[in-house]
Amino acid sequence: MIINHGVRGSTPNPSQNYLFFGGNTPCVEIKTQKYQLIFDCGSGFSKVNFSNNLETILFISHFHHDHIQGLAFNNYDTDINKKITLTSAHSNKTVTYNNLSAYYNNPYFPVNFIEIINRFNFLDFEQVVNDFEDLNINSIDLNHPGNSSGYSIKSDNKKFCYLLDNEYEDVQEEKLINFCDHSEAIIWDGMFLESELSDKKGWGHSSIEQGIALADKIDVKNFLISHHSPSRDDKEIKDIENKISNKRVKFASENEVIEF
Ligand SMILES: [Zn+2]
Ligand SMILES: [Zn+2]
Repeated sequence: MIINHGVRGSTPNPSQNYLFFGGNTPCVEIKTQKYQLIFDCGSGFSKVNFSNNLETILFISHFHHDHIQGLAFNNYDTDINKKITLTSAHSNKTVTYNNLSAYYNNPYFPVNFIEIINRFNFLDFEQVVNDFEDLNINSIDLNHPGNSSGYSIKSDNKKFCYLLDNEYEDVQEEKLINFCDHSEAIIWDGMFLESELSDKKGWGHSSIEQGIALADKIDVKNFLISHHSPSRDDKEIKDIENKISNKRVKFASENEVIEF
């Protein structure tokens, strides 16, 4: 099961006209028979209910604020002894710990949250790949200022790919197709429209149109465009979606659960 807890890029937008698709910044939860896998902890992370029965792993794509700003705002209403594995292919466990500690500390935050919460088991990405080999975890380097790591997992014979944030370039096509082929679902960074891209070169995001074109070349059941611009309201997104002929392409919504 895929739950999009956050689909908005850059900054939350809880305004009335944005709530059909959702106003929270990125967080995606996958539940399998054994695992609760969480990708990024934007503001949508507050809605994650931690499972006491499943092994929970949190993957961070990169440390831009919209991908980590929710980490301190979950109520962690779960078994006091439950540990959450936290990892990133972007940086080793020490850098990951230091980045999150710096963000959740003076002068940006009132307390040293990462130490106080004492919930996270920081692991190097390579160790997570080895320790949980039944998940077939892979990562891919994306094109983003300061880099971002995309992920794929294959569990219960079903593959899921998470590709935020990425500024698509033609040279990526073959690599992305190989990485993503035969997927149940792909999360794609469609922050911009093609008409907006020329002003936003180097900002690290792709267009909706680039996603639609790539989806035609990939065997995927649900190609979910996400990281919606914080200024793109529900009507505009619905109008764009209605014109897409490939019905496997959809806009990620916080109000839709996709069976996996
Ligand atoms: Zn982002
Ligand atoms: Zn970013």
